Amino acid sequence: MNKFSWYEAKSLEDALEQVNSTVSEQLYESSNGAAVFKSGGVDVLDWVKEGLLRPEKIVNIRNIPGLDTIRFDKKEGMSIGANVTLAELASNNEIKEKYLAVHQAVNHAATPQLRNMSTLGGNLAQRNRCWYFRSADHQCFRKAGDRCFARHSETGENENHAIIDNGSCVSVHASSIATALMAFNASVVIVGEDGKKRAVGIDDFFVTAAKDISMETVLTSKEIITDIILPPPSKNTKSIYVKHVARESYDWSLGDVAVVMEVSGDTCKEASIVLGAAAPTPYRSVPAQEAMQKMNINDENAEKAAEAAMSVARPLSKNAYKVPLFKSIIKQAITEIS
Ligand SMILES: Cc1cc2nc3c(=O)[nH]c(=O)nc-3n(C[C@H](O)[C@H](O)[C@H](O)COP(=O)(O)OP(=O)(O)OC[C@H]3O[C@@H](n4cnc5c(N)ncnc54)[C@H](O)[C@@H]3O)c2cc1C
Repeated sequence: MNKFSWYEAKSLEDALEQVNSTVSEQLYESSNGAAVFKSGGVDVLDWVKEGLLRPEKIVNIRNIPGLDTIRFDKKEGMSIGANVTLAELASNNEIKEKYLAVHQAVNHAATPQLRNMSTLGGNLAQRNRCWYFRSADHQCFRKAGDRCFARHSETGENENHAIIDNGSCVSVHASSIATALMAFNASVVIVGEDGKKRAVGIDDFFVTAAKDISMETVLTSKEIITDIILPPPSKNTKSIYVKHVARESYDWSLGDVAVVMEVSGDTCKEASIVLGAAAPTPYRSVPAQEAMQKMNINDENAEKAAEAAMSVARPLSKNAYKVPLFKSIIKQAITEIS
């Protein structure tokens, strides 16, 4: 591990000024920046310890005042500060009552200890968990290398990887909470070097590998997430989140789904269906949404939606099991929505 200095940011302006005034050596293109921000530190300190990131300075944004509140407004919806921890989110009754799928996703993420440390902003900005990407010995596409090690049909260990949109990088995004946030059409508020805030719809926040292999989100190293906004739900909004993992106690997702529906009796007026650990970004399944539009919520239609979602799947050598897995959890989510 290289030597680095530690800076305790007192405000957003203070933190942003630090990244503009420091020069550091970085091992991979996509983490370019003068210094790195640290919130919960669960992910970024791993990168430093593994020698994948060599910052000159770590700027701790965890204690900046005002980034740790959860507020609900009937018109604006739920505003969640980027430094709110996953544990705080999990115990918030308003989120449970109004955004059940988000509550369920947070409760299934990581362990209680990790949820105490991890923040929502850090969760969205964390890097993917592909073991080749996280190995200093493998220069993959995302680190300006010339190949994807996971994709190789014989030697690639790709059981956890993408079955959709896996044309270049085949990693999946690490945030399972983002699956539920996307189903609720959340937006991410970002402040940049000029101090101006912009709200980015979460569908546009994540960057596909096909669009830019060096980025997983639109965030640059000189920008900070300040809030995540969930639009106000109507009284006919129902939601559910289902995650499948290898170990029941806690684990990264092998496949997860969030469904948010506007319902009228037993009919789905409109559906928002998002898959996690299916593609390099949280993936909105338009075919599944269309299959449920104005349809009765029953086994038969849920199965049709699941089939439609998986019609675009192109599994790799070791992850074909994900296709029936997704079919099963999509059907389960639709039929059990409440
Ligand atoms: C064993 C294990 C299991 C896990 N399981 C799950 C899981 O099932 N589901 C899931 O969703 N997550 C899971 N996680 C992720 C974890 O919960 C954290 O959310 C994540 O590691 C990062 O959160 P953090 O606050 O510690 O971020 P940090 O490590 O502080 O930061 C992560 C990245 O985000 C940047 N960053 C942090 N905050 C901001 C901000 N406000 N604005 C801009 N950039 C920012 C940092 O610069 C860094 O690049 C797991 C982690 C571990 C170690």
